[in-house]
Amino acid sequence: MKSADVIIVGGGPAGSSCAWSLKRQGVDCLVLDKESFPRTKLCAGWITPEVVEDLELDIAAYPHRFLSFKKLHFHFPVIGLSPPTLQHSIRRYEFDAWLLERSAAPLDTHKVQTIRQQGEEYIIDEQYRCRYLIGAGGTRCPVYRELFRQLSPRAAKKQVVALEEEFPYDYRNSKCHLWFFEKDLPGYSWYVPKADGYINIGIGGFVTRLKQQGDDIKTHWDRLTQKLERKKLVQGHDYAQKGYSYYVRGKSEVCRIDNAFISGDAAGLATKDMAEGIGPAVRSGLLVAEAIAQGTSYDFATISRKSFETRQLLISALLPRPYRPGIQRKNQL
Ligand SMILES: Cc1cc2nc3c(=O)[nH]c(=O)nc-3n(C[C@H](O)[C@H](O)[C@H](O)COP(=O)(O)OP(=O)(O)OC[C@H]3O[C@@H](n4cnc5c(N)ncnc54)[C@H](O)[C@@H]3O)c2cc1C
Repeated sequence: MKSADVIIVGGGPAGSSCAWSLKRQGVDCLVLDKESFPRTKLCAGWITPEVVEDLELDIAAYPHRFLSFKKLHFHFPVIGLSPPTLQHSIRRYEFDAWLLERSAAPLDTHKVQTIRQQGEEYIIDEQYRCRYLIGAGGTRCPVYRELFRQLSPRAAKKQVVALEEEFPYDYRNSKCHLWFFEKDLPGYSWYVPKADGYINIGIGGFVTRLKQQGDDIKTHWDRLTQKLERKKLVQGHDYAQKGYSYYVRGKSEVCRIDNAFISGDAAGLATKDMAEGIGPAVRSGLLVAEAIAQGTSYDFATISRKSFETRQLLISALLPRPYRPGIQRKNQL
Protein backbone atom coordinates (compact mmCIF):
# COMPACT_ATOMS: atom_id res chain seq x y z
CA MET A 1 0.00 0.00 0.00
CA LYS A 2 1.29 3.47 -0.96
CA SER A 3 1.55 5.92 1.89
CA ALA A 4 1.85 9.75 2.21
CA ASP A 5 1.34 12.19 5.09
CA VAL A 6 -1.27 14.04 3.03
CA ILE A 7 -3.33 12.77 0.13
CA ILE A 8 -5.20 15.29 -2.01
CA VAL A 9 -8.07 13.91 -4.07
CA GLY A 10 -8.38 16.10 -7.18
CA GLY A 11 -5.78 18.13 -9.05
CA GLY A 12 -7.94 21.14 -10.08
CA PRO A 13 -7.27 24.64 -8.69
CA ALA A 14 -8.20 23.62 -5.11
CA GLY A 15 -5.97 20.53 -5.10
CA SER A 16 -3.00 22.01 -6.94
CA SER A 17 -2.96 25.18 -4.79
CA CYS A 18 -3.02 23.05 -1.68
CA ALA A 19 -0.23 20.80 -3.00
CA TRP A 20 1.87 23.82 -4.04
CA SER A 21 1.61 25.37 -0.61
CA LEU A 22 2.23 22.09 1.25
CA LYS A 23 5.35 21.35 -0.79
CA ARG A 24 6.67 24.86 -0.17
CA GLN A 25 6.25 24.23 3.54
CA GLY A 26 8.07 20.90 3.34
CA VAL A 27 5.02 18.66 3.82
CA ASP A 28 4.93 15.33 2.01
CA CYS A 29 1.83 15.03 -0.16
CA LEU A 30 0.43 13.04 -3.06
CA VAL A 31 -2.27 14.12 -5.54
CA LEU A 32 -4.72 11.58 -6.97
CA ASP A 33 -6.76 12.53 -10.01
CA LYS A 34 -8.93 10.33 -12.19
CA GLU A 35 -7.82 12.19 -15.32
CA SER A 36 -4.36 12.54 -16.79
CA PHE A 37 -3.26 16.13 -17.32
CA PRO A 38 -3.71 18.28 -19.31
CA ARG A 39 -7.41 17.53 -19.10
CA THR A 40 -10.53 19.42 -20.15
CA LYS A 41 -12.48 21.16 -17.39
CA LEU A 42 -15.70 22.85 -18.45
CA CYS A 43 -15.21 26.45 -17.36
CA ALA A 44 -15.25 29.94 -18.90
CA GLY A 45 -11.74 30.48 -17.52
CA TRP A 46 -12.37 33.95 -16.10
CA ILE A 47 -9.97 34.67 -13.23
CA THR A 48 -9.89 37.62 -10.87
CA PRO A 49 -6.92 39.67 -9.59
CA GLU A 50 -7.34 37.84 -6.25
CA VAL A 51 -6.54 34.54 -7.99
CA VAL A 52 -3.41 36.06 -9.54
CA GLU A 53 -2.38 37.37 -6.14
CA ASP A 54 -3.16 34.22 -4.15
CA LEU A 55 -1.22 32.10 -6.64
CA GLU A 56 1.64 34.63 -6.76
CA LEU A 57 1.30 34.41 -10.52
CA ASP A 58 3.90 36.30 -12.52
CA ILE A 59 1.74 37.07 -15.55
CA ALA A 60 4.72 37.92 -17.76
CA ALA A 61 6.30 34.54 -17.04
CA TYR A 62 3.08 32.48 -17.41
CA PRO A 63 3.79 30.34 -20.51
CA HIS A 64 0.21 29.93 -21.80
CA ARG A 65 -2.76 32.00 -23.02
CA PHE A 66 -3.53 34.88 -20.68
CA LEU A 67 -5.73 37.85 -21.60
CA SER A 68 -6.55 40.87 -19.42
CA PHE A 69 -9.69 43.00 -19.61
CA LYS A 70 -9.83 46.52 -18.26
CA LYS A 71 -13.64 46.45 -18.24
CA LEU A 72 -16.41 43.91 -18.14
CA HIS A 73 -19.49 44.56 -20.27
CA PHE A 74 -22.63 43.74 -18.27
CA HIS A 75 -25.90 43.68 -20.21
CA PHE A 76 -29.16 43.75 -18.22
CA PRO A 77 -32.65 43.69 -19.79
CA VAL A 78 -32.97 47.49 -19.76
CA ILE A 79 -29.47 48.80 -19.18
CA GLY A 80 -25.86 48.08 -20.08
CA LEU A 81 -22.95 48.85 -17.75
CA SER A 82 -19.23 48.68 -18.41
CA PRO A 83 -17.50 49.18 -15.07
CA PRO A 84 -13.73 49.50 -15.13
CA THR A 85 -12.38 46.43 -13.34
CA LEU A 86 -9.25 44.45 -14.12
CA GLN A 87 -10.13 40.80 -14.83
CA HIS A 88 -8.42 38.04 -16.81
CA SER A 89 -9.04 34.94 -18.90
CA ILE A 90 -7.05 31.72 -19.16
CA ARG A 91 -7.73 28.30 -20.68
CA ARG A 92 -8.35 25.72 -17.97
CA TYR A 93 -6.81 23.02 -20.17
CA GLU A 94 -3.49 24.86 -19.89
CA PHE A 95 -3.84 26.57 -16.51
CA ASP A 96 -4.71 23.50 -14.42
CA ALA A 97 -1.90 21.36 -15.86
CA TRP A 98 0.57 24.20 -15.35
CA LEU A 99 -0.49 24.77 -11.73
CA LEU A 100 -0.23 21.10 -10.95
CA GLU A 101 3.21 20.83 -12.49
CA ARG A 102 4.35 23.96 -10.66
CA SER A 103 3.26 22.43 -7.34
CA ALA A 104 6.01 19.79 -7.76
CA ALA A 105 3.77 17.30 -5.97
CA PRO A 106 3.71 13.70 -7.18
CA LEU A 107 0.55 12.78 -9.09
CA ASP A 108 -1.07 9.37 -9.52
CA THR A 109 -3.80 8.90 -12.09
CA HIS A 110 -6.37 7.08 -9.99
CA LYS A 111 -10.14 7.31 -9.65
CA VAL A 112 -10.93 7.29 -5.93
CA GLN A 113 -13.95 5.21 -5.04
CA THR A 114 -13.88 4.06 -1.44
CA ILE A 115 -12.51 5.69 1.69
CA ARG A 116 -12.44 4.29 5.19
CA GLN A 117 -10.95 5.44 8.45
CA GLN A 118 -8.63 3.06 10.31
CA GLY A 119 -7.37 4.48 13.60
CA GLU A 120 -5.69 7.78 12.74
CA GLU A 121 -5.37 6.96 9.06
CA TYR A 122 -7.52 7.09 5.95
CA ILE A 123 -7.43 4.13 3.59
CA ILE A 124 -8.30 4.78 -0.05
CA ASP A 125 -9.43 1.90 -2.26
CA GLU A 126 -7.20 -0.37 -0.12
CA GLN A 127 -4.30 1.04 -2.17
CA TYR A 128 -3.32 4.31 -0.47
CA ARG A 129 -3.02 5.41 3.17
CA CYS A 130 -2.55 8.88 4.69
CA ARG A 131 -2.87 10.83 7.94
CA TYR A 132 -4.52 13.88 6.35
CA LEU A 133 -7.07 13.58 3.56
CA ILE A 134 -8.15 16.49 1.38
CA GLY A 135 -11.25 16.47 -0.76
CA ALA A 136 -10.61 18.65 -3.82
CA GLY A 137 -12.48 16.49 -6.29
CA GLY A 138 -15.07 19.03 -7.45
CA THR A 139 -18.85 18.52 -7.35
CA ARG A 140 -18.62 14.73 -7.31
CA CYS A 141 -15.73 14.58 -4.86
CA PRO A 142 -15.56 11.13 -3.22
CA VAL A 143 -14.25 12.63 0.06
CA TYR A 144 -17.38 14.80 0.28
CA ARG A 145 -19.59 11.86 -0.70
CA GLU A 146 -18.08 9.34 1.74
CA LEU A 147 -17.32 11.52 4.78
CA PHE A 148 -19.20 14.85 4.63
CA ARG A 149 -22.44 14.49 2.69
CA GLN A 150 -24.51 13.03 5.51
CA LEU A 151 -23.48 15.75 7.96
CA SER A 152 -23.53 18.56 5.45
CA PRO A 153 -25.96 17.93 2.58
CA ARG A 154 -25.94 20.48 -0.25
CA ALA A 155 -29.03 22.66 -0.65
CA ALA A 156 -30.82 21.95 -3.96
CA LYS A 157 -31.59 25.62 -4.49
CA LYS A 158 -27.85 26.40 -4.62
CA GLN A 159 -27.26 24.10 -7.59
CA VAL A 160 -26.24 25.72 -10.85
CA VAL A 161 -26.28 24.07 -14.26
CA ALA A 162 -24.07 25.42 -17.02
CA LEU A 163 -23.47 24.74 -20.71
CA GLU A 164 -20.37 25.89 -22.50
CA GLU A 165 -18.02 25.43 -25.40
CA GLU A 166 -14.45 26.63 -25.87
CA PHE A 167 -13.04 26.65 -29.39
CA PRO A 168 -10.50 28.34 -31.65
CA TYR A 169 -12.15 31.38 -33.23
CA ASP A 170 -10.76 34.35 -35.06
CA TYR A 171 -12.84 36.82 -33.03
CA ARG A 172 -13.22 40.48 -34.01
CA ASN A 173 -14.66 41.64 -30.66
CA SER A 174 -12.13 41.19 -27.85
CA LYS A 175 -14.41 42.47 -25.05
CA CYS A 176 -15.77 40.22 -22.32
CA HIS A 177 -19.60 40.31 -22.46
CA LEU A 178 -22.06 39.06 -19.83
CA TRP A 179 -25.86 39.02 -20.36
CA PHE A 180 -28.03 38.73 -17.24
CA PHE A 181 -31.63 37.49 -16.79
CA GLU A 182 -32.48 37.39 -20.51
CA LYS A 183 -35.93 35.89 -21.11
CA ASP A 184 -36.19 35.15 -17.35
CA LEU A 185 -32.97 33.14 -17.25
CA PRO A 186 -32.15 32.72 -13.53
CA GLY A 187 -28.49 33.36 -14.26
CA TYR A 188 -26.37 34.76 -17.06
CA SER A 189 -24.57 33.96 -20.30
CA TRP A 190 -21.08 34.92 -21.41
CA TYR A 191 -18.71 35.56 -24.27
CA VAL A 192 -15.14 35.32 -22.99
CA PRO A 193 -12.27 35.80 -25.45
CA LYS A 194 -8.94 34.13 -24.72
CA ALA A 195 -5.52 35.14 -25.98
CA ASP A 196 -4.40 33.89 -29.42
CA GLY A 197 -7.73 33.15 -31.02
CA TYR A 198 -9.74 31.07 -28.57
CA ILE A 199 -13.16 31.88 -27.22
CA ASN A 200 -15.49 30.53 -24.55
CA ILE A 201 -19.27 30.78 -24.92
CA GLY A 202 -21.54 29.67 -22.10
CA ILE A 203 -24.65 30.01 -20.02
CA GLY A 204 -25.55 29.10 -16.44
CA GLY A 205 -28.60 29.24 -14.19
CA PHE A 206 -30.11 27.91 -10.97
CA VAL A 207 -31.59 24.43 -11.48
CA THR A 208 -34.63 24.68 -9.18
CA ARG A 209 -35.65 28.08 -10.54
CA LEU A 210 -35.44 26.79 -14.11
CA LYS A 211 -37.61 23.81 -13.13
CA GLN A 212 -40.15 26.01 -11.34
CA GLN A 213 -40.45 28.11 -14.51
CA GLY A 214 -40.94 24.96 -16.64
CA ASP A 215 -37.83 26.06 -18.44
CA ASP A 216 -34.56 24.39 -19.44
CA ILE A 217 -31.03 25.60 -20.02
CA LYS A 218 -30.82 24.23 -23.56
CA THR A 219 -33.59 26.60 -24.75
CA HIS A 220 -31.60 29.52 -23.33
CA TRP A 221 -28.45 28.18 -24.96
CA ASP A 222 -30.16 28.16 -28.38
CA ARG A 223 -31.24 31.78 -27.85
CA LEU A 224 -27.69 32.71 -26.88
CA THR A 225 -26.09 31.21 -29.99
CA GLN A 226 -28.73 32.86 -32.21
CA LYS A 227 -28.01 36.20 -30.56
CA LEU A 228 -24.26 35.79 -31.05
CA GLU A 229 -24.91 35.11 -34.73
CA ARG A 230 -27.20 38.17 -35.04
CA LYS A 231 -24.71 40.42 -33.29
CA LYS A 232 -21.92 39.03 -35.47
CA LEU A 233 -19.96 38.00 -32.37
CA VAL A 234 -19.72 34.34 -33.44
CA GLN A 235 -20.76 33.34 -36.93
CA GLY A 236 -21.10 30.03 -38.71
CA HIS A 237 -19.93 27.89 -35.80
CA ASP A 238 -21.26 24.35 -35.42
CA TYR A 239 -21.69 24.13 -31.62
CA ALA A 240 -20.89 21.04 -29.54
CA GLN A 241 -21.62 22.40 -26.07
CA LYS A 242 -21.30 20.32 -22.90
CA GLY A 243 -22.90 20.66 -19.49
CA TYR A 244 -21.78 20.50 -15.87
CA SER A 245 -23.31 21.29 -12.52
CA TYR A 246 -21.96 22.73 -9.26
CA TYR A 247 -23.05 24.58 -6.15
CA VAL A 248 -22.78 28.18 -5.00
CA ARG A 249 -22.07 29.00 -1.38
CA GLY A 250 -24.77 27.91 1.04
CA LYS A 251 -25.18 28.12 4.80
CA SER A 252 -23.25 25.00 5.73
CA GLU A 253 -19.65 25.68 6.67
CA VAL A 254 -18.62 22.11 7.59
CA CYS A 255 -15.14 21.95 6.16
CA ARG A 256 -13.22 19.58 8.43
CA ILE A 257 -14.02 16.30 10.16
CA ASP A 258 -11.09 14.89 12.15
CA ASN A 259 -8.19 15.06 9.68
CA ALA A 260 -10.35 15.13 6.56
CA PHE A 261 -10.92 18.48 4.81
CA ILE A 262 -12.99 19.64 1.84
CA SER A 263 -12.19 22.53 -0.45
CA GLY A 264 -13.33 24.23 -3.69
CA ASP A 265 -16.40 22.83 -5.46
CA ALA A 266 -16.36 19.81 -3.15
CA ALA A 267 -17.33 22.25 -0.39
CA GLY A 268 -19.72 24.25 -2.64
CA LEU A 269 -17.82 27.53 -2.42
CA ALA A 270 -18.61 29.33 -5.70
CA THR A 271 -19.72 32.94 -5.24
CA LYS A 272 -23.42 33.68 -4.88
CA ASP A 273 -23.60 36.45 -7.48
CA MET A 274 -21.42 35.14 -10.33
CA ALA A 275 -20.92 31.43 -9.50
CA GLU A 276 -17.19 32.13 -9.71
CA GLY A 277 -15.41 29.07 -8.31
CA ILE A 278 -11.72 29.26 -9.22
CA GLY A 279 -10.91 31.97 -6.65
CA PRO A 280 -12.67 30.21 -3.76
CA ALA A 281 -11.08 26.89 -4.80
CA VAL A 282 -7.58 28.38 -4.77
CA ARG A 283 -8.12 30.22 -1.50
CA SER A 284 -9.59 27.18 0.26
CA GLY A 285 -6.76 24.95 -1.01
CA LEU A 286 -4.19 27.36 0.44
CA LEU A 287 -6.06 27.54 3.74
CA VAL A 288 -6.15 23.74 4.10
CA ALA A 289 -2.39 23.62 3.51
CA GLU A 290 -1.85 26.25 6.19
CA ALA A 291 -4.07 24.37 8.63
CA ILE A 292 -2.06 21.18 8.13
CA ALA A 293 1.42 22.72 8.01
CA GLN A 294 0.95 25.40 10.68
CA GLY A 295 -1.84 23.93 12.81
CA THR A 296 -4.11 26.93 12.15
CA SER A 297 -7.87 26.52 12.17
CA TYR A 298 -9.61 25.94 8.84
CA ASP A 299 -12.73 27.90 7.98
CA PHE A 300 -14.21 29.87 5.10
CA ALA A 301 -14.21 33.30 6.79
CA THR A 302 -11.66 34.81 4.38
CA ILE A 303 -13.32 33.40 1.26
CA SER A 304 -15.58 35.96 -0.44
CA ARG A 305 -19.24 35.06 -0.85
CA LYS A 306 -19.62 37.54 -3.69
CA SER A 307 -17.45 38.34 -6.71
CA PHE A 308 -18.51 41.98 -6.85
CA GLU A 309 -19.93 44.58 -4.52
CA THR A 310 -22.97 45.65 -6.58
CA ARG A 311 -23.04 49.19 -5.20
CA GLN A 312 -19.36 49.73 -6.00
CA LEU A 313 -19.86 48.36 -9.51
CA LEU A 314 -22.76 50.71 -10.17
CA ILE A 315 -20.95 53.76 -8.81
CA SER A 316 -17.87 52.90 -10.77
CA ALA A 317 -19.80 52.41 -14.02
CA LEU A 318 -21.76 55.64 -13.67
CA LEU A 319 -19.25 58.10 -12.22
CA PRO A 320 -16.85 60.05 -14.44
CA ARG A 321 -13.37 58.48 -14.49
CA PRO A 322 -11.58 60.68 -11.87
CA TYR A 323 -14.21 59.88 -9.22
CA ARG A 324 -14.38 56.11 -9.73
CA PRO A 325 -13.49 54.01 -6.68
CA GLY A 326 -11.32 50.91 -7.16
CA ILE A 327 -13.39 47.72 -7.19
CA GLN A 328 -12.13 45.30 -4.63
CA ARG A 329 -13.31 42.37 -2.65
CA LYS A 330 -13.26 42.46 1.09
CA ASN A 331 -11.42 39.36 2.14
CA GLN A 332 -7.68 39.48 1.69
CA LEU A 333 -5.67 36.45 2.81
C1 LIG B 1 -19.47 25.91 -17.53
C2 LIG B 1 -18.75 26.45 -16.32
C3 LIG B 1 -18.13 27.68 -16.39
C4 LIG B 1 -17.42 28.19 -15.28
N1 LIG B 1 -16.77 29.37 -15.41
C5 LIG B 1 -16.03 29.85 -14.37
C6 LIG B 1 -15.23 31.00 -14.52
O1 LIG B 1 -15.14 31.57 -15.60
N2 LIG B 1 -14.53 31.45 -13.46
C7 LIG B 1 -14.58 30.81 -12.26
O2 LIG B 1 -13.95 31.29 -11.32
N3 LIG B 1 -15.31 29.68 -12.09
C8 LIG B 1 -16.01 29.17 -13.12
N4 LIG B 1 -16.68 27.99 -12.99
C9 LIG B 1 -16.56 27.23 -11.74
C10 LIG B 1 -15.17 26.57 -11.67
O3 LIG B 1 -14.93 25.84 -12.86
C11 LIG B 1 -15.10 25.62 -10.46
O4 LIG B 1 -15.64 26.25 -9.35
C12 LIG B 1 -13.64 25.23 -10.17
O5 LIG B 1 -13.12 24.47 -11.22
C13 LIG B 1 -13.53 24.45 -8.87
O6 LIG B 1 -12.22 23.96 -8.73
P1 LIG B 1 -11.94 22.62 -7.90
O7 LIG B 1 -10.48 22.45 -7.87
O8 LIG B 1 -12.71 22.65 -6.64
O9 LIG B 1 -12.61 21.46 -8.76
P2 LIG B 1 -12.33 20.96 -10.26
O10 LIG B 1 -11.72 22.02 -11.06
O11 LIG B 1 -13.61 20.34 -10.72
O12 LIG B 1 -11.24 19.82 -10.08
C14 LIG B 1 -11.60 18.60 -9.48
C15 LIG B 1 -10.63 17.52 -9.93
O13 LIG B 1 -10.95 16.31 -9.22
C16 LIG B 1 -10.85 15.21 -10.09
N5 LIG B 1 -11.72 14.15 -9.58
C17 LIG B 1 -13.08 14.14 -9.52
N6 LIG B 1 -13.51 12.97 -9.01
C18 LIG B 1 -12.40 12.24 -8.72
C19 LIG B 1 -12.20 10.92 -8.17
N7 LIG B 1 -13.23 10.14 -7.81
N8 LIG B 1 -10.94 10.49 -8.02
C20 LIG B 1 -9.88 11.27 -8.39
N9 LIG B 1 -10.02 12.49 -8.92
C21 LIG B 1 -11.27 12.97 -9.08
C22 LIG B 1 -11.30 15.76 -11.43
O14 LIG B 1 -10.79 14.99 -12.52
C23 LIG B 1 -10.73 17.18 -11.41
O15 LIG B 1 -9.46 17.26 -12.03
C24 LIG B 1 -17.39 27.45 -14.07
C25 LIG B 1 -18.03 26.21 -14.00
C26 LIG B 1 -18.69 25.70 -15.12
C27 LIG B 1 -19.34 24.36 -15.03
